[in-house]
Amino acid sequence: MRRPLIAANWKMFLTPDEGVSLVKSVMAANVDYAKVDVLVSPSFTSLYAVFNAVKVAGKPVSVAAQNICAEDEGAFTGEVSLQMVKGCGAGAVILGHSERRNIFSESDELINKKAIKVLSGGLTALLCVGELLNERESGKADAVVVAQLDKNLKGVKDLSKVVIAYEPVWAIGTGKTATPADAEAMHKTIRTFIGSTYGVAVADNLRILYGGSVKPDNISMLMKEPDIDGALVGGASLKADQFLKIINY
Ligand code: PEP
Repeated sequence: MRRPLIAANWKMFLTPDEGVSLVKSVMAANVDYAKVDVLVSPSFTSLYAVFNAVKVAGKPVSVAAQNICAEDEGAFTGEVSLQMVKGCGAGAVILGHSERRNIFSESDELINKKAIKVLSGGLTALLCVGELLNERESGKADAVVVAQLDKNLKGVKDLSKVVIAYEPVWAIGTGKTATPADAEAMHKTIRTFIGSTYGVAVADNLRILYGGSVKPDNISMLMKEPDIDGALVGGASLKADQFLKIINY
């Protein structure tokens, strides 16, 4: 039985004080944590403050970083390492977000290197995959997503600390959500691919989130689909009331 996970991606929004205030509002509300896992992903600068606010409140809310450098340490001005985010309380790292792939030109090979780093450090890798609009329109969506998985997970033997987020790029921040049926079809494709590589039991235990304009009014339809195990939420995670409606779908 896969437990639903509702994950917030705050992207490059919120100062440390604003992040703490948001997470406190989320934690102050009634959430049945026995039924749903909740995760927030602040910017690097807010990570430690948000983690401490969660620790003080004693709520089972996880904190993730939005990225890491693939290197351990050294002369990499402006970069942030796995040990640094781990030291700030991160239990997970988002990898392969389409904004990293498309704006910052992260290759599948680099994402793979980061995935191996995150997993060998004992953190959870929240790996995002998804096709561009023209790839969907030309019927290549399945092939694109499977190729991303294949390359990003190369050499990864154990998926127990991997969560996949299927995020069609055309649905991120656009207000256009994939239909529940289309999202489900892709989640099935992902699960089948994982099953063929790692075995059916591993595929059955793998959480696959949907991301792309998830809002309070579309979450429950998405969550009715058998292979959708939660959501990665961008814009709607920046307002406590909206994020809470999604958590409590
Ligand atoms: C995201 O940033 O991963 C995302 C899905 O954003 P949004 O919910 O705003 O589409």
